Amino acid sequence: MVGRGLNARGGRTRLLTFLLVAGLLGLGLGYALHSGAIEVPERWNPWAPVRIADPPNWLTSFKLARLSDEEGLCQYVLAGAEMRYRPVPDQVTAPGCGFSNAVRIEATGTFAVEEAFTLSCRTAVPLAIWERHVLQPAARDHFGHPVTELEHFGSYACRTVSGRDGARMSRHATADAFDIAGFVLEDGRRIRVLDGWPSEGREGDFLRDLHRGACRIFDGALGPDYNPAHHDHFHFEQGGFRMCR
Ligand SMILES: [Zn+2]
Repeated sequence: MVGRGLNARGGRTRLLTFLLVAGLLGLGLGYALHSGAIEVPERWNPWAPVRIADPPNWLTSFKLARLSDEEGLCQYVLAGAEMRYRPVPDQVTAPGCGFSNAVRIEATGTFAVEEAFTLSCRTAVPLAIWERHVLQPAARDHFGHPVTELEHFGSYACRTVSGRDGARMSRHATADAFDIAGFVLEDGRRIRVLDGWPSEGREGDFLRDLHRGACRIFDGALGPDYNPAHHDHFHFEQGGFRMCR
């Protein structure tokens, strides 16, 4: 009994020592990264701002989350996106509706948009990352041509998730979400979520790559498999809990 008691105590002491040392090392590493004493490439440094040019990794969501609280940082990051946009004055249109730090997107670095749309800065940044690291590489892989136009169902709308009174407000109500209906490629081919998603061929593969890629970048990505309301578009959003359906 005494031996077992000593063993258990010894085990606990070893565990506590291990946790203490690991905690101190973690703190030291965090401080060293933060202060610049240890230099790692920016994309692997959790304290460095997210950069649109960097391929997404497991730190991307963490870095994107910072943009919600830091408006100036978000605008700084978005300025690196080659997007054509203009700032939109903050608006409160109804209880739970309106936006701040939003931009009106007229074109992205590589494609035109059917109609300019308003998006919060924190959602515009992941859109630029997805465009660069998911959408255009997938278009080239599957079809040999980039996307030149985005067809969408809009972004800002003061409404609930289901459109019914009393339901939770949609991320659309704060311009943190947008709905993509389809794409036009450089050679004129038009791919719509509506008829492309169910196809077994290249169009279906392309669209599924886009959805999978969006799940790694946006907080929420919903597609036709989620529910009938999404049969004809992708819904991408930022700021909520993580969803990939
Ligand atoms: Zn939507």
